[in-house]
Amino acid sequence: MITTTVQENAYDVALANFDAAADALELSQDSREMIKYPERVLTVSVPVRMDDGHIHRFEAYRVQHSTARGPAKGGIRYHPQVTLDEVKALATWMTWKCAVVNIPFGGGKGGVTCDPKHMSQGELERMTRRYASAILPLIGPAQDIPAPDVYTNPQTMAWIMDTYSMTKGYPIAGVVTGKPISLGGSLGRNEATGRGVFYTILSACDHLGLAIKGATVVVQGFGNAGSIAAQLLHEAGAKVIAVNDSTAGVYNPKGLDIPGLMHLKALTGKVEGFPDAEPISAEELLRLKCDILVPAALENAIHARNAAAVDTKIVAEAANGPVTPEGDRILENHGVFLIPDILCNAGGVTVSYFEWVQDEQHLFWEAQDVYNRLERVMKTSFRDVLKIHTDRKVPMRVAANMLGIGRVAEAVQIRGIYP
Ligand code: NAD
Repeated sequence: MITTTVQENAYDVALANFDAAADALELSQDSREMIKYPERVLTVSVPVRMDDGHIHRFEAYRVQHSTARGPAKGGIRYHPQVTLDEVKALATWMTWKCAVVNIPFGGGKGGVTCDPKHMSQGELERMTRRYASAILPLIGPAQDIPAPDVYTNPQTMAWIMDTYSMTKGYPIAGVVTGKPISLGGSLGRNEATGRGVFYTILSACDHLGLAIKGATVVVQGFGNAGSIAAQLLHEAGAKVIAVNDSTAGVYNPKGLDIPGLMHLKALTGKVEGFPDAEPISAEELLRLKCDILVPAALENAIHARNAAAVDTKIVAEAANGPVTPEGDRILENHGVFLIPDILCNAGGVTVSYFEWVQDEQHLFWEAQDVYNRLERVMKTSFRDVLKIHTDRKVPMRVAANMLGIGRVAEAVQIRGIYP
């Protein structure tokens, strides 16, 4: 696997980001005690019969960081480097993210430490169903609603929905989002994260007076979030000059043919070997001069050792936690405009919320309705964060955290759930 990632503990980063925003909000110690840490942490063993007949035990987690504003909400990640601290960090970010876009959910996250690229469909299905049974006491449409994250997809959600429904005796679509359309999924959910990233980039370009037509773009991570953002930017006239995935990178200074690249990725699962492009290493890709850099892979991609070489006007965090606190400081000093993760990639959870609303009402919307509502939410949230950034003269990440953390603190205070 190619990687530029450093081994920084994502949960330490989440706590440091919390403290910076809580200080700026002058949040009382009582409020911090109430909202900073996860409400519930579950570690489970997931024994699975592998295709060769032996049993392999996977370690897995579900964390509910907060249910102060509504049911916990957050994806499930399958990756060899999943740890409990990573899941806690991702759950924490979900809480602030749902509050930034003002949807009535708290934050949660799940993960299984596994290597899905080396597992068969049958092994993945058995692991998913066993994992779903293990976290069954925690999940439900009114309690905690999982969704896809890295290396999980609508099929994974279908298996979880089916496993959960079998225990109840009837189909319960609202237990997960990001489902296939035929099972109660929402039109527009699959591309929602990338589309939300796109809307926030448009808002940032507006703010900075940068034309999207002809703007140069680099995307790290060509999965669900990264490829859709690249596609929409390409359609809007931007020039996507380089992208990579976990195995290789491709570069063309005149602009890559993004529909062609998406076709290749769908066929082979890789961007490697794309014609009309040169190979580029993961390190070089992050150093390319561009207008917009979209980290859309994993945590800690931009850090103390490589941030100074980043040469862009905008960093749009499609991934969760791709810039470390030290990386933040360096980008800020270099005048890079940051669209922080809990704002930038919140389109996914926003359309997950729309999906849950549709499931609960048994009434489904047209794709254009979903896009229009998503655009409104993303642009309003961008404006809200930008206002704090300019009024309070704080970095965009601190501004986004202030908005999210402030809303959660207010909800907890008003509920008085901790007398
Ligand atoms: P995905 O599994 O669809 O894609 C991940 C992509 O990243 C793959 O193309 C993989 O090859 C690539 N990748 C992995 N390691 C890499 C590395 N070191 N360098 C370059 N590329 C690498 O996952 P996704 O859903 O697109 O998630 C990507 C990021 O977006 C994650 O941080 C995730 O938490 C975040 N996110 C996703 C959603 C969503 O709805 N899918 C919502 C919000 C945030």
